[in-house]
Amino acid sequence: MSHALFQKRVTVLDKGWIELLDMMPHPEAGVSGDLAIVNAARVSFLGESKGDERDKKLLFYLMRNHHTSPFEMVEFKFRVHAPLVTWWQWVRHRTWNMNAQSGRYTPFEEDDFYVPSVWRKQAKDNKQASEGELSPEDNAQLTEKLLQHYETAYKLYEEALQMGVAREIARLFLPGFSVYYTWVVKVDAHNLMHFLRLRMAREAQYEIRVYAQAIFDHFFKPALPWTAEAFETYALAAKED
Ligand SMILES: Cc1cc2nc3c(=O)[nH]c(=O)nc-3n(C[C@H](O)[C@H](O)[C@H](O)COP(=O)(O)OP(=O)(O)OC[C@H]3O[C@@H](n4cnc5c(N)ncnc54)[C@H](O)[C@@H]3O)c2cc1C
Repeated sequence: MSHALFQKRVTVLDKGWIELLDMMPHPEAGVSGDLAIVNAARVSFLGESKGDERDKKLLFYLMRNHHTSPFEMVEFKFRVHAPLVTWWQWVRHRTWNMNAQSGRYTPFEEDDFYVPSVWRKQAKDNKQASEGELSPEDNAQLTEKLLQHYETAYKLYEEALQMGVAREIARLFLPGFSVYYTWVVKVDAHNLMHFLRLRMAREAQYEIRVYAQAIFDHFFKPALPWTAEAFETYALAAKED
């Protein structure tokens, strides 16, 4: 996996990250992801390009007209380290394949907890959203309390383990939304765009939005530049209306 796309581990949140494990077509396979989409639409064989201008035009036509199945011919596999507050939302996307680290096998470490850089305030006109943030003083105070809370919780977890309690039940002591888990996830480009459209949007929670944005900026755009441009033109622009 020598290609540059596989060598990036993009940092997200305070200790999260995301990396590309694999892709189909492989970036070194001699056919780009964009071309694989165009060729699938022509029900053709790899390499049967009609030249950049006509290929790109066809890809834009597909996106504009919701001719989605050719976009399913490209797949991405990521390894992601994110807190459970992010995973709760991510796993709702049924079109992804997922495999998670098990807290039944692997003990958690003391610093496996998400610490937000700022405390966002409850939005006034949207019960699901946040707006603005606490003052720097309140922010620091609350973060200090969160760290104390994590320390206490982790001590109780360790105590239970030392008493011989199984990892699967000792983890009840850990703050459920905050703990970081590592997953391997796989999705095709069509369903990835659906995820990105929902989770890069303003309405999405920050803790998943930053992962969606990292996927788009660092992996999707470099791997599929025409598709990303068409997606921004038709799917994202339409959502802003
Ligand atoms: C801002 C925001 C707020 C949200 N708030 C809530 C909330 O308060 N409560 C809550 O429970 N959820 C909430 N969700 C989650 C949301 O309801 C969806 O479950 C989630 O976004 C996944 O979307 P999806 O089903 O379209 O995606 P996927 O599961 O990836 O599916 C993609 C598409 O495939 C099709 N599909 C997949 N599986 C089926 C199926 N079994 N039957 C029919 N069609 C299928 C659908 O067309 C679907 O759109 C929220 C999501 C967002 C973005």
